[in-house]
Amino acid sequence: MSQPNQAERDAARRWQQQHPGTSYQDALKKVRARHRAQASTPDSGEDHDHIGFTVAAAMADEQSSGRVRTPVAAAVTILHGIEGARMLSQMVATSGPEVTCMLCDKTVHGSPVVNIGLVLRAVTQGSEEAEASMPVFTHPACAPARCWSWSQLTAERHRRRMPVDPADLLPRPARRKPRQEDWYAWPITRSDQPQALFYLQPGDPHPHGDLGFRADRLTDGLPTYNPRDPQPTPGWRIVTRGGRIVRIQHQLWGDLYTLPEPADPGTPGWIAAARTTGTVHFITAPAYTINLTPGQTVFDFNNALRRDVLFGAVMELVEEGAR
Ligand SMILES: [Zn+2]
Repeated sequence: MSQPNQAERDAARRWQQQHPGTSYQDALKKVRARHRAQASTPDSGEDHDHIGFTVAAAMADEQSSGRVRTPVAAAVTILHGIEGARMLSQMVATSGPEVTCMLCDKTVHGSPVVNIGLVLRAVTQGSEEAEASMPVFTHPACAPARCWSWSQLTAERHRRRMPVDPADLLPRPARRKPRQEDWYAWPITRSDQPQALFYLQPGDPHPHGDLGFRADRLTDGLPTYNPRDPQPTPGWRIVTRGGRIVRIQHQLWGDLYTLPEPADPGTPGWIAAARTTGTVHFITAPAYTINLTPGQTVFDFNNALRRDVLFGAVMELVEEGAR
């Protein structure tokens, strides 16, 4: 049997508690069989995100200009601020028939509701790779207000038999069994104060690469995490049941992620820090970005920061049913 990850070890220990007399190895086998059964259920589409996040959890921020209602993706506000969102909304209201839906190529002019999102594209500036973001206008029937990577948008147009540049389509990834995602909990110190950190690691690389991961997390409304100056982020919370973490959610938008098994962060240091501050630093990054060598207590954010794929927030810790 291969080395169990932390989520599996935790689930196996819980299994043993619930089924006295079961050996650890047998509990581990049961847990893995259950995970395999979950992993083999058919996925919902080619854009399946193996981390299990509920994509598009964020509700669009409603703007309106004149008679046009324009739900704006959370990504627009995260990347360009509320002024950027207002500007795009104005643009839709005052534009003519030349503004078209990115998915059906028909004009959005005259439509009572126009969704505003973004598409992220890698561009080369001199010798540097950079990211450009462009507005995406869609009819509500064509697509929700979300953030796309260029290849995600191209794949969706292709699926709808709209013309695309074949060079923009990513090769379809080989079908393979998704790896179970994993989580890690550490106590950290910020301004001499012990604090609790919870890292969620996807099982597999994102099918649309770093830009796809960024587009999905921005669609979720999750901000990028700044380890140098992390600030509490209103609305986001980590929900526990009997002290174990069961899900990550936003007060208004609902669940972002539900753990396959409740997670017991375990160490007294982590629990004390979380209780004292009432918050947890939640972070996530694409698979294999952060070095998680066993026994290593200090880990390196630099790779994820450099690639702009470190997402997360300082979240309130809330016991389920408390309010
Ligand atoms: Zn359309």
